[in-house]
Order: sequence, then structure tokens, then C-alpha cells
Amino acid sequence: MTNETVKVLIIGSGPAGYTAAIYAARAGLKPVLYTGGQPGGQLTTTNDVENFPGYPDGINGSQMMIDLQKQAERFGTRINYGLVTSVDFSGWPHKVVVDEKTTVVAESVIIATGATAKYLGLPTEEQYYNKGVSACAVCDGYFYRGKEVAVVGAGDSAAEESTYLANLCTKVHLIVRRDEMRASKIMQQRVKNTPNIEIHWNTETEEILGNGNEVTGVRVVNNKTGEKKHIPLQGFFLAIGHKPNTEIFKPYIDMDETGYINVKPGTSKTNVEGVFAVGDAADKVYRQAVTAAGTGCMGALDAEKFLVAKEMEMGMVHS
Ligand code: NDP
Repeated sequence: MTNETVKVLIIGSGPAGYTAAIYAARAGLKPVLYTGGQPGGQLTTTNDVENFPGYPDGINGSQMMIDLQKQAERFGTRINYGLVTSVDFSGWPHKVVVDEKTTVVAESVIIATGATAKYLGLPTEEQYYNKGVSACAVCDGYFYRGKEVAVVGAGDSAAEESTYLANLCTKVHLIVRRDEMRASKIMQQRVKNTPNIEIHWNTETEEILGNGNEVTGVRVVNNKTGEKKHIPLQGFFLAIGHKPNTEIFKPYIDMDETGYINVKPGTSKTNVEGVFAVGDAADKVYRQAVTAAGTGCMGALDAEKFLVAKEMEMGMVHS
């Protein structure tokens, strides 16, 4: 194992991680960022991003991440390709192991590991990814305006995304696997009051259908009656939840029951001194690139403040 010590270690390379890097680098903290297994994060899996302020013509998700990386590097961030495999937050400074071989000793850590959308696991889901299949209505819904789409799921996300899409699309088929929804009553009411949303109860998706280039429909089955249906449509949205990428921090960091990191409200502070959480890993509600970037900035400012206080504390101990 090789060792290095850094002032600010950022784990993750989505908008939260890179924004934290830009701020920390500009503050002269020489941050080191580990990209994780999917450099650039979730945005690299979308086409055009049209809702990030400052891009009147939209921007390709991957390009945006390349730009953010360049901006972070310009101010002196060291970016390393590697996956953090374990951490030891039991004392200070913190220890982070990358690719099971490199131990990084860090005075502060910013967790920006994001979340991963859940998929049904159908082979055609992968084939038509970004060609009609999406896990983000707010990101991609606009491309389906005037078209017919489906949303799978029955939680608040499914309710919110189907009402959002109903404003853009001619019709939304909401595919619910049970005879009730998990979403809050008010959100369910909103769905039921929207005339162009049709709820398919007790229904599961068997196959996404397409012409090789794009989605043309979906075959669903009623799990009570066994009746199968072919619904012609152009867009298929998954809203069956996200999984935050926080497993490795579990022994030390407070999280809710689904793995989202609990931060002190209005800050990026976790329960461990000098460890901060930003972006989707600590946000199950908004989950937008712009909110992730905003909290990334908070993480860097909180880390900077922490390091100054720590330095003063150490100085007092030594004097
Ligand atoms: P949830 O975990 O709450 O819901 C997931 C839904 O997907 C469930 O209804 C579940 O069905 C369904 N599902 C899971 N797997 C499958 C599958 N294989 N096939 C079909 N359906 C499936 O996730 P959400 O993303 O909706 O919400 C996550 C959290 O974020 C919640 O706490 C929610 O309240 C919150 N949130 C709040 C919002 C707001 O306040 N505006 C907006 C969005 C989210 P089943 O019910 O049968 O298990």
C-alpha cells in the first residue's frame, strides 16, 4: 500500500464533486478527486442537459462533465481515476482506500458519490437506453413533448414525474405493480385528477418494444388476470427509486434507512468531524445537477472552514 496525505479529498466526479473541487482548488487547498467507477457520474448517461442555468442552447451531459473537470483542473485539482473501496473514519485524519491498494490520508473528505437509478433489468431496457428509455423525466421529458409515454413506479417520484410529463405529452400511462400507490395522498390525488394520465393497476412490464432505433411501445401483463396488452408509445420512464452509492460509509456515517446520508440541515456536515456529504448521496428529493453543484460548493466551503478551525486548534495544542 502506498500512502499520501491531502487536505481535501473529494470522492466522486459528478457536478457535486467537480464543483466542490473548483471551490476547494480556488481556495488553495489543492484538492484530490477520485472519479469513481463512472467518471462524470449520472449526467454522462443523458443526452442534452437543457435545465442547467447558463446554457441557452443546452449542453451534452458528457461535454458538461468534461468542462467541469477542466475547470477543476485549471485551478489545481488533481484528478485520479480510481474507485474508493473502503474508508476508516474512526479517527482524524481520515483514511480512504482506493482500488484496495492506495491509502489516502485526508484532513477532510467530501463525499460526492451520487446515486444510481434502479432499472427493471429487462434486456431491451439497456438496448433502448436514451432511445426512448430514461430514468429522469425532468431531464428528458421535453424530448417527448406531443408524444405518448409510460412511467413505471408508484412512489412520489412516479407521481411527480407522471404529472410533469402529462404537461408535455399527449398521454401518460402509469404502470403500477400493485393495486395501490406508495406515493403521498396529495401526489396520488394529483395523478388521479390529471385527465391524460391512465393508471394501469396490478401491471408489470414484460418487454419494451422498438424498431431497433427507438422505442415504439411496451408489452405489459396484468399480474392478477394474466391479460397482456401492447401499448404503443415513444417514451418509457423508470421511476422505481434510486440507490445512493454510500454503502462503504455505512459503518461511520449516519444515513436514513435507504442509505441517503444525513447532513446537518443547511450544511454539508455529516456526524463525523471533517467529513462532508454533497449531491445526490445526501439528497433524495431534488436530485438535479444544479442542486448537486450547489451543495458541492457548500461542501468545499464547509471543509475550508473546518480546516481553518482545525489548524487553529492544533496550533493551540502545540503552543
Ligand atoms: P420509492 O422507493 O418511494 O418508490 C419506488 C416505487 O417503485 C414503489 O412504488 C415500488 O412499488 C416501485 N417499484 C420498485 N421496484 C419495482 C419494479 N421492479 N417494478 C415495478 N415497480 C417497482 O422511490 P421514489 O423515488 O418514488 O421516492 C424515494 C424517496 O424520495 C421517497 O421517500 C419519496 O417520498 C421521496 N420523494 C419525495 C418527493 C417530493 O416530496 N416531492 C419527490 C420524489 C421523491 P411498490 O410500492 O409496489 O413497492
